[in-house]
Amino acid sequence: MKNTHFLPCCEINYHPQLCPHNIVLVQAEFILLRKVASDNYSPLISNENLAEIRLATEILEIGTFYNSPCGVVELEKNIFADNSDFELKPIREGLKLVSNRDEATALARAIEFNHWVKHRNFCSNCGEILTVAEKETAKICKACNSRFYPVLSPAIIVAITDGTKILLAHNRRFREGLYSLVAGFVESGESLEQALKREVFEETGLQVKNIKYFSSQPWPFPNSLMMGFTAEYESGEITPDMQELTDVQWFDFDNLPLIPTHETIARRLIDYAISSKK
Ligand SMILES: [Zn+2]
Repeated sequence: MKNTHFLPCCEINYHPQLCPHNIVLVQAEFILLRKVASDNYSPLISNENLAEIRLATEILEIGTFYNSPCGVVELEKNIFADNSDFELKPIREGLKLVSNRDEATALARAIEFNHWVKHRNFCSNCGEILTVAEKETAKICKACNSRFYPVLSPAIIVAITDGTKILLAHNRRFREGLYSLVAGFVESGESLEQALKREVFEETGLQVKNIKYFSSQPWPFPNSLMMGFTAEYESGEITPDMQELTDVQWFDFDNLPLIPTHETIARRLIDYAISSKK
């Protein structure tokens, strides 16, 4: 894996001024993106862009990008509404528009970390207000000494192949005609492999074998980590669960339906699974 140019910070810091050079701007379920090219956007807004604007709130540090501090600010309104270089996008759609992997990581970090810092305010043990810990990414309860760290929800996604066919599914939340891979959350107490086998069986009725790790992607809705695998068909007949998946089919590698865009781990997995079998 190549070196990454975004590094998350390991404590909770606020900056009162525009000293971070790159800032991610979040507004409720939206993010503000800077247009780099017609189909390429950056979530990092430089302080030159922000020089004329007085930000109402402090900047929460999220890490460094090429060694420069990076932060996130939650806006109450779109401060660039009159500037066509900037566009307000729903978070899910926005993530797919950022093709630079380091910038996508910074964006995922900004969304997840901001969500956690904003929502973890009270001790779940005794109900006291929490304070920010020193020198670690944590909040502490001074009344009962409990410590709270950001929580991740692991999820698996798997490309299942059988010869020159790949298993793709239409989820009821997808737009019409779009097919992707089977995915689901890991339950507490499960290994990743157990979660994968259970999800595949529950959603499609199939058993799989030869599970191999591929790669992972932060999935900040609001705090998941999607871990990608490949697997091979072992046994069973396709029976979609009809709860989440309304259609599941084997597709020949040369005759795929509409599939997710290149920035997603689903698409990278599909491309990898097919190229490694051809
Ligand atoms: Zn407490």
